[in-house]
Amino acid sequence: MRYLLALDQGTTSSRAIVFDERGRVAALAQREFAQHFPHPGWVEHDAAEIWATQLAVARECVQKLPSALSGRAQAAPEIVAIGITNQRETTVLWDRATGQPVAPAIVWQDRRTTARCEQLRRAGKAAAIQRKTGLVLDAYFSATKLEWLLDNVPGARARAEAGDLAFGTIDSWLIYQLTGGRTHATDPSNAARTMLMNIHTLAWDEELLRLFSIPRAVLPQIVPSSGLLGETDSDLLGTPLPIAGVAGDQQAATFGQACFAPGMAKNTYGTGCFMLMNTGGRAVRSRNRLLTTVGWQGPAGADGRRTAYCLEGSVFMAGATVQWLRDGLQIIQSAPEVEALAASVPDTGDVFLVPAFAGLGAPDWDGRARGTLVGLTRGSTRAHIARAALEAIALQSADMFGAMSRDAGLALTELRVDGGASRNDLLMQLQADLLGVPVVRPQVTETTALGAAYLAGLATGVWSGGAEIAAQWAVERRFEPTLTESARRARIARWREAVERARGWAKT
Ligand code: ADP
Repeated sequence: MRYLLALDQGTTSSRAIVFDERGRVAALAQREFAQHFPHPGWVEHDAAEIWATQLAVARECVQKLPSALSGRAQAAPEIVAIGITNQRETTVLWDRATGQPVAPAIVWQDRRTTARCEQLRRAGKAAAIQRKTGLVLDAYFSATKLEWLLDNVPGARARAEAGDLAFGTIDSWLIYQLTGGRTHATDPSNAARTMLMNIHTLAWDEELLRLFSIPRAVLPQIVPSSGLLGETDSDLLGTPLPIAGVAGDQQAATFGQACFAPGMAKNTYGTGCFMLMNTGGRAVRSRNRLLTTVGWQGPAGADGRRTAYCLEGSVFMAGATVQWLRDGLQIIQSAPEVEALAASVPDTGDVFLVPAFAGLGAPDWDGRARGTLVGLTRGSTRAHIARAALEAIALQSADMFGAMSRDAGLALTELRVDGGASRNDLLMQLQADLLGVPVVRPQVTETTALGAAYLAGLATGVWSGGAEIAAQWAVERRFEPTLTESARRARIARWREAVERARGWAKT
């Protein structure tokens, strides 16, 4: 049996998972690390702590491995390669010589460069940026974060121009540390989130580098998501291991869900929802302000070694709506309780909850929308509200899916799901009903780490290609739609009426 070590570096924790060649979890370790909020709207990580926790969990996993196999007549387990997946957009700037960060990492959630983005928008730059990068001009992405570091860390710009500093998203940072500074690289799925790469050519874009005043000397080399890109220092994990797969977390999850053909999509139900749809070799420009992004470059695709593009959208309030029922309304004590409560009534009694607590994202894009509960009568109970909350998660995902399908001109045949709230069977049934297509939950729900392992395994011959992985991907449960098409449309139309009532509420 051969194994792959996936490093899954997330926003709140570093995780490591060893998968066997059948895609099953053989060992897992996880460590949380500190979040820093030095000013309102600022979010920082200590890149050194990220590396320390990531290395620690990798070592823990490797050590656990023989015990996971005890009882079986086995030679020492062989880890064939490492795959990396990571929180995206988070920006690290470090000293090439010492390998030490020169400033705290600016996390994707950090809003400090919002004013700079507004300035660029006023200067009419948004359309050109979207054409080249597939992104909506926003502080979320790395470009303005890196620009900020170069402008605000004393001496950084001069040192960057002299070639003494290196920039990277978390993947590059980890690769640099793992290889003892020998490899400074990133993959197109991560580079696509920097707002500095042209997603059509997969190269750093001269014009964008000028716009954000980024010296070329700080940039990592862009290499395929699946392929040998370096070897770990032998003192780190006992023996040198090849690093052979890299992808941003959402793209890795899409790969781990084996969404290799155009029109295949996955939705991750966590705090928010992240939906990605594979659009094949075509970078589809969205008319609904969805993002166009590189899925991966490498031996992906059911049909060969190509670059796969995705449309990506997110729902701000998904599992967070359930948290609000628990912490705000206090009508449940734990998130999983919502299912039984919602199932205690046959329907919402025409009650709708529009969870626009933080405005509405795609496809409505209304920052002034606010949370709205409509249709209450004397007969309404907390059960109706709980059910309306679950429906709202499914309805927002259905709206997003509709926008995606229209943008791509592709019809969905099923939706693959993962994330904490995907364990809720009622929610998944409601989702199938509201999409009108089956919702499929896989046996292995560690799809993000699995995607990184698959990318690494494809590059090292553990798997022959997408078809072999697609065959390995196994269904845990499939939820078939039960509503008639007219009932489904009526439900969505009624939801749209509720959304209209939520719009434009906040005056400031
Ligand atoms: P994240 O990675 O964003 O932290 P997770 O994938 O761990 O999210 O999922 C946690 C979210 O899922 C929480 O917002 C929680 O309220 C929600 N959640 C967890 N279990 C359930 C459940 N059974 N039904 C509905 N929501 C749930």
